[in-house]
Amino acid sequence: MMRENVPLSTLTTFRIGGPARYVAQGNSVASVKAAFAHARECRLPLYPIGQGSNILASDASIAAVLLLMQNNSIAFSDTSEGVEVCADAGTSWDALVRACADKGLWGIENLAGIPGTVGAAPVQNIGAYGSELADSFSWLECYDPDTETIQRLTGAECAFGYRDSTFKQNPGRIIMRVALTVTRSGSPRTQYADLSRLIDAGEVLDTPHAIGEAVRRVRSAKFPDLTEYGTAGSFFKNPTIVLDQYTQLQQQYPELPGFATSTGIKIPLAWILDHVLDLRGFRMGHAYLFQNQPLVLVADAGATCVDVDALANNVAEKIFNATGIQIEREVRSLS
Ligand code: NAP
Repeated sequence: MMRENVPLSTLTTFRIGGPARYVAQGNSVASVKAAFAHARECRLPLYPIGQGSNILASDASIAAVLLLMQNNSIAFSDTSEGVEVCADAGTSWDALVRACADKGLWGIENLAGIPGTVGAAPVQNIGAYGSELADSFSWLECYDPDTETIQRLTGAECAFGYRDSTFKQNPGRIIMRVALTVTRSGSPRTQYADLSRLIDAGEVLDTPHAIGEAVRRVRSAKFPDLTEYGTAGSFFKNPTIVLDQYTQLQQQYPELPGFATSTGIKIPLAWILDHVLDLRGFRMGHAYLFQNQPLVLVADAGATCVDVDALANNVAEKIFNATGIQIEREVRSLS
C-alpha cells in the first residue's frame, strides 16, 4: 500500500517534519522491490524508516519514497555456539530484548529500552552500558537495489564501529532481518556507574530479565518518555579525542571523565554540557536540552526543524569554543 503526502511529524518521535511524497510499507522482499520500482518510476530517492526515533526531518516537503519496514517476527534456534535469534527488520528492538530475557538468554540485556526497530539497530550499531549490537551480532540479510538481490553480511562486512556501520557510511541497502547469537549462560556486565550503583544499593542483577528491567528503569529516569516529549534521544555522539587534548582539558577541568578506547579517549558530552557550560535545561525558542540528561534535545509541540537546528548548532559552537571539540550529530537528518 502506498500512501501520499504523509507528514513526517506523524512518523518520527521528534514529531517534526513536512509531508513525505510517498510512504510505502515493507513487509516482504516483494513489497520492498515494488517500493524501489515506484521510486525509480517517479525518479525519487527511497529511504527506509523504522520507528523514526533517530530522525530530524526538514519542515519542507520531502521528495522521496519512505519505506516503512513492518515485517516482524522472532525465531530462535539452537546452534553450536548458543542460540541464534533471528528477527525481522520491523520488529521493535525492545520486544526482541524482552523475548530473549523471557527465555533467560544473555547478550543484549544491557540494550533494553533503546527505542527503534531491529532493522535500524545495525545501522548505528546501537550500544549502551558497555554492550553494543556488534558483540552479539551473527549476520544480517539486506536487499541491494542495484543487484535486486538479498545479500547476507557478516559482522566484519557490516564494518561496525562506535555508533557506526557500513549502512551509515553507504546508505542504500535495506536491512530485512538480523540474526544474533545469545547464550544460555552468561554473566552480568554491570561496570557502568548507573548499574553498579544499583548493585551497591543491594539490588540483585543476576539474570538478563533483572538487568533489562533495571536498565529500563535507569533510562526512564534519565531520558524523556517518547510518548510525552518530542525527542530523538541523545542528539550528539559522545566524542572521542586524542590523549594530548584530553590531558590539556584536564588541566582546565580536573574532574573531566574520560574512557580509553582503541581510537582515543571517549568523553561523556553530558558532563561538558553540565559542568563546563551549565546548559542543563538550556532553551532557545521551542527547543531545549533535557534537564535530566542534557545530551537529549527536546522539541515543544509545534516546534520546527529550524528551531532544533538553531539550538543544536548553538550548542555545538559553545562546546567548540570552550573545549576545541568538534561534535557530531547522532540523529540522522532527512530532507
Ligand atoms: P552514560 O552512561 O552517562 O555514559 C556517558 C559516556 O561515558 C558514554 O560515552 C559512555 O560510553 C561513557 N562511559 C560511561 N561509563 C563508562 C565505563 N564504565 N566505561 C567506558 N565508557 C563509559 O551515558 P547516558 O547518556 O546516560 O546513556 C546511557 C547509555 O546508553 C550509554 O552507554 C550511552 O552510550 C547509551 N545510549 C545509546 C544510544 C544509541 O545507541 N543510540 C542512545 C542513547 C544512549 P558508551 O557510549 O560507549 O556507553
